[in-house]
Amino acid sequence: MEDYTWNLWHGCHKISEGCKNCYVYRIDSGFEKDSSVVLKTQNFNLPVKRSRSGGYKIPSGSFVYTCFTSDFLLEEADDWRVDAWKMIRERSDCTFCFFTKRIERLQTVLPTDWQDGYENVIIGCSVENQSAADKRLPFFLEAPIKHRHIICAPLIGNIELSSYLDRDLIELVSAGGESGEAARPCSFDWVLDIRRQCVEKGVAFKFHQTGARLIKDGRLYKIDRKFQHSQAAKANINFGDNIGE
Ligand code: SF4
Repeated sequence: MEDYTWNLWHGCHKISEGCKNCYVYRIDSGFEKDSSVVLKTQNFNLPVKRSRSGGYKIPSGSFVYTCFTSDFLLEEADDWRVDAWKMIRERSDCTFCFFTKRIERLQTVLPTDWQDGYENVIIGCSVENQSAADKRLPFFLEAPIKHRHIICAPLIGNIELSSYLDRDLIELVSAGGESGEAARPCSFDWVLDIRRQCVEKGVAFKFHQTGARLIKDGRLYKIDRKFQHSQAAKANINFGDNIGE
């Protein structure tokens, strides 16, 4: 089954260290576009768009990467998100996955029928370093969510995660370095340490990309964008069943 990307609004505001080299800003700058202006996109209603035959354009069973040119929980999108939740609800036959650095806002913007979470929504809480983890993960664990992933990216420091790794609550921890010309180096030791914590707690772990600069055995490797996923896969350090492709 093909994966889809649903960028329903575009633009965001930098809120933490992990945002420093945000790829939305990086790509927009090439088009002299101001990424701090948040606008709905033409694809806003993609999940419920229909083809001429009358069926949904996105087939049943699809995986939909949601809101990757903004943050789904951004304040400016509060009014638009009401309709977004309705579309996600209507397409309960598809899985929607979004990452956020604003997890503390989730409980104030949930739809009324959310209860303990929609079965078809995966939420990834992004944490780039220890302070982000300590700030965001307590909200993440408390929130009513059916499928939780912790996204340690762009990883810019070691993170002690153990106290947050409840295998009944966290389905996957994913780690990755930063991309782009100005990428900060990621140490492979940090990646391995997060993996160790996951193994000890029985939580699935995935090394999803190396980033552009990886330090391994004291040496700095510069890795071209097109090899960052494949090189991470070659490290062969994924753990558990829930690691996807
Ligand atoms: S929250 Fe995400 S999209 Fe928004 S500025 Fe930070 S890195 Fe970019």
